[in-house]
Amino acid sequence: MNEDFITVLRKHLKSPQKAIIIPHKNPDGDALGSSLALMHFLLLEKHQAVVVSPNDYPNFLNWLPGQEKILIHNKSKELVQKKINEATLIFTLDFNALSRIDKLGEIISKAKAEKIMIDHHEAPEDFASLMYSDPYMSSTCEMVYNIITTLNPDSINSEIASCLYTGIMTDTGSFKYPSTTAETHKAIAHLIEKGADGTVIHQKIYDSSSFNRLKLLGIALSNLNRIRSLPIVYITLSQQELNSCDYQKGDTEGFVNYGLSLEGVQFACIMIENEKEGKIKMSFRSKGSFSVNEFARKYFQGGGHLNAAGGMSTDSISETIELFNKAVAEVSSQF
Ligand code: 5GP
Ligand code: MN
Repeated sequence: MNEDFITVLRKHLKSPQKAIIIPHKNPDGDALGSSLALMHFLLLEKHQAVVVSPNDYPNFLNWLPGQEKILIHNKSKELVQKKINEATLIFTLDFNALSRIDKLGEIISKAKAEKIMIDHHEAPEDFASLMYSDPYMSSTCEMVYNIITTLNPDSINSEIASCLYTGIMTDTGSFKYPSTTAETHKAIAHLIEKGADGTVIHQKIYDSSSFNRLKLLGIALSNLNRIRSLPIVYITLSQQELNSCDYQKGDTEGFVNYGLSLEGVQFACIMIENEKEGKIKMSFRSKGSFSVNEFARKYFQGGGHLNAAGGMSTDSISETIELFNKAVAEVSSQF
């Protein structure tokens, strides 16, 4: 972490602040865990702090300490606008582009508050006046851990520890992705000492599936397709298939990883239809040096990390499969 970042942040936090903390749209464990941990920390330090999520979050995160206080922008527009007008600091967590927070992007770009980005995605946009951006970090939670332990290590209580543990665990695939370092494990050890219960958190996130979600996984796996002569697979889920299993937000989390679990496969994609939004949400995962971040940027209006990225298509599923086939043909020499 850059010394200047901490020096300037420390200056800001010398006097009482009104902070807004914003995770990305469809927040995951890292986005919500880091936002809530920062909220708990700022409250302990006698600031005001509110987490504003662009939209609702999945059920598997609805136990995180403090989640009941989260304001959802698309449900409480007026209240959120008021809070943003009054804010002195706006923290943006776990995203690199204002498009990742939908309409909140325009609202915060007009806000007078100081904007502070904390994020580990590549190629951050230049919308914040203060940035802690590091694509080598395992998670935004590990970055918030670094900030809190630098500013006031004694403030880590069991609530902060549980929130940070959750995001580090989910973004590292339970501590197995290459972004997991010795520092990550040291942070996790410290968080366990401070009250994070790894077994309970793991169960809440990964062993809390509904019957319907497991049925949907069955459909997803039966839709698994291989690209001929390349180590690439893709999965599709149509709106009709989602409806047949009473799809709930978050139900498809992790499905794309099953493609990557096949021996020899280096690149997996899942395409999920969202009829209401008129688009196909795409998730990309890779093993090794193939950059799904670049792939998502170049072909599917998205981005992310080297080995995990997302994007979208406004065409039908069958057209999107064709586009995907054309795109992988163009990058086939990389495999
Ligand atoms: P997921 O596939 O789980 O939605 O996202 C994987 C990673 O890519 C996450 O770090 C997420 O923040 C990022 N990501 C997902 N969708 C998009 C997108 O449309 N644009 C950008 N820039 N990043 C994305
Ligand atoms: Mn993250």
